[in-house]
Amino acid sequence: NQQILLASRPTGMPTPENFRIVQTPVPEPADGQLLLEILYLSLDPYMRGRMDDAKSYARPVEIGAVMEGGTVARVIRSRHSEYAPGDIVLSHSGWQRYALSDGENLRKLDPALAPISTALGVLGMPGFTAWAGLLQIGQPKPGETVVVAAASGAVGSAVGQIARIQGARAVGIAGGPEKCAFVRDELGFDAVIDHRAPDFAQQLADACPKGIDVYFENVGGQVWDAVFPLLNDFARIPVCGLISQYNALPQAEPGPDKLALLMRDVLKKSLTIRGFIQREFAALRPSFLREAGQWIEEGRLRYREDIVDGLERAPAAFIDLLQGRNFGKLVIKV
Ligand code: NDP
Repeated sequence: NQQILLASRPTGMPTPENFRIVQTPVPEPADGQLLLEILYLSLDPYMRGRMDDAKSYARPVEIGAVMEGGTVARVIRSRHSEYAPGDIVLSHSGWQRYALSDGENLRKLDPALAPISTALGVLGMPGFTAWAGLLQIGQPKPGETVVVAAASGAVGSAVGQIARIQGARAVGIAGGPEKCAFVRDELGFDAVIDHRAPDFAQQLADACPKGIDVYFENVGGQVWDAVFPLLNDFARIPVCGLISQYNALPQAEPGPDKLALLMRDVLKKSLTIRGFIQREFAALRPSFLREAGQWIEEGRLRYREDIVDGLERAPAAFIDLLQGRNFGKLVIKV
């Protein structure tokens, strides 16, 4: 079995040395267990948090343990009554080729319904995050302006398209001309802006002549700084992620303390700023699967996957993700 372990905790941006690739025997399933062969491994920004030894909503990965992650796998041996060899399942088996499971937290996938890798992306955790965060917290109304960054990515691409399905205007922010063209031309956003442009803040203001009613926060940092003055009264801000900060050291960017300014506008504009972790909405997953499945079929919800071949390339691909070098939902074809 090939496994990728957390070798050490990163300081700032992770490096390949923080990971270790090892070979171990393929485990034998005991009674009530299954042996899974991992086909696809999802790489997601939250994994950066699991590499730190800090208190958070989930426990960190221990040093020397297999990196965690969502996976799509094939059952190759079963000593469990509900699963048979050949079944395709969604599991959380981590960065490895083979894994045991006791059947808990597995979901069978029907390969006839959708490509199985989509269970990690548009029809999986990131798609659900977009759907739940936007509709439950953002609550866009027809004619309103919704802004989202990392707009070509797994979450952002769905946020903008679902906003448009609700009748809102979707403004995307993405890094570089290629991603921007994709967001505008393939995903159909109403406008898109490159956050690396020197006049980014001005371009964003021009693209939002009626202000911003919903800002779906994925990145933080200088994107937030540009969004903040454009927020309308009663704007809703689902705080989903802050990827520009995940590698920032606490002492890295002292800068001016803007908290007083932020709180003044929270009050003055009656802003709703609400953080969330997608699993709090878990009870809504069946509705999401039904709705998103239908939108995909109708061609109203499009997605792009960035599939990297080979488990051993996962560390490099993950480091790339944290720097915006992925283009679409990043998945390792194990
Ligand atoms: P993406 O597929 O969007 O990939 C990450 C993207 O983030 C990069 O491609 C890049 O896009 C952008 N990015 C990276 N660094 C920076 C930076 N310094 N400044 C601005 N943009 C940057 O990832 P996901 O769709 O999986 O995740 C998007 C966000 O959603 C993340 O913050 C993630 O943590 C969060 N999330 C939260 C969940 C929750 O339950 N709250 C669940 C799932 C995801 P570009 O090149 O266009 O800038």
